[in-house]
Amino acid sequence: MTQLADSAPRAHGPRSEALHRRAMRERIPVIAAIELTHRCNLACVHCYVNLAPNDREAQRRELTTEEFFRIIDEMADAGTLWVTLTGGEPLLRPDFCDIYSYAHKKGLLLSVYTNATLITERHLELWRKQPPRVLEITQYGFTRETYDTVTDVGPQFDRFHRGLARVRDAGLPVTLKAMAMRLTVDEIPAIHEFANAGGMQFRFDAVISPRIDGGRKPLAQRLTPTEVAAIEVDGRDTDSLFASYCADLEKRPRDDRRYQCGAGLTSFTIDPYGKMHVCQLSRRPGWDVLRDGFRQGFDVEFAKLRAETRTDMSGCGTCATAAACTNCTGMAELEGRSLDDGDPYFCNITDARGELAAGAARKTPNGLVKLRLRGEHG
Ligand code: SF4
Ligand code: SF4
Repeated sequence: MTQLADSAPRAHGPRSEALHRRAMRERIPVIAAIELTHRCNLACVHCYVNLAPNDREAQRRELTTEEFFRIIDEMADAGTLWVTLTGGEPLLRPDFCDIYSYAHKKGLLLSVYTNATLITERHLELWRKQPPRVLEITQYGFTRETYDTVTDVGPQFDRFHRGLARVRDAGLPVTLKAMAMRLTVDEIPAIHEFANAGGMQFRFDAVISPRIDGGRKPLAQRLTPTEVAAIEVDGRDTDSLFASYCADLEKRPRDDRRYQCGAGLTSFTIDPYGKMHVCQLSRRPGWDVLRDGFRQGFDVEFAKLRAETRTDMSGCGTCATAAACTNCTGMAELEGRSLDDGDPYFCNITDARGELAAGAARKTPNGLVKLRLRGEHG
């Protein structure tokens, strides 16, 4: 399943921006992801989380419907507004409609991440009555061959297209997503065009993470830094975006906080077993919400994590291109490396972005490319 990092609601308009600013100031947990299960009917080669659909041990440990209701109650009371129901494949749970409906009645704004192969009339009826903010559907290949190679459980391509057609025929809001990786890199433009032609929003992710259980198989699908930057810049206004990041950074003071994002500040993740994490990548220590309470976890324990500072500022802490970099504490944890140092893969992606965006970036006072203080990462 695609990760939360790119799923957080963007601030649209002054009212929404004001809400986001207030949430950051007051530590309000407005954004959540609930992983209903880590099991999935597909077995994508790059997936960071998937377990077999009939994994008995995982099933035994997953929360019951009522336990998810209790967690939703606690989140709503704490001020949560935007919730992504994700997995694994969330529609694999027979009580998906009950959990969705309960959260919807609570007034939460719901997004659903699904591979679209399990959509039934029951789901469509539910979503017509209680519409989601968006259904985010991932297309794992433009061609049948690529799709079925990535998903790795036999022919699924037609099921995917049938599911997608059904939600579109029902008039539901869809964002089509793709993962840019070794197997799909040549097909991303075609998926993008397909989304455009159908009037769907489109986005893709080009950075693959290791599995949360420590498995490194997904990393074999990583693109080279040059490929990541090229596919990101292609057809988008990324050059001026990086330049504005850079200009903004040059005004900032040194910042020794390990977490630079909203993880554990305005957002959090609940896993299928009732553990709360600051995000989908950074899974320490995992707070038992039902046993120990949401507020204690978010207000006290996550505040301690958020207060952590770098012990060494010579790496990412003083990197002048950090804002254009997709390395983060969660990714470093999953890769089992230092939370303070940079990583050559991410440094090289950032440099490649800078090289491609050089025209705009060099207009900023110091330029974007190779501004890091530590030369050895370049
Ligand atoms: S559809 Fe693929 S990427 Fe998504 S959870 Fe299933 S196996 Fe993972
Ligand atoms: S470019 Fe390298 S040093 Fe800079 S933030 Fe990214 S990983 Fe850290």
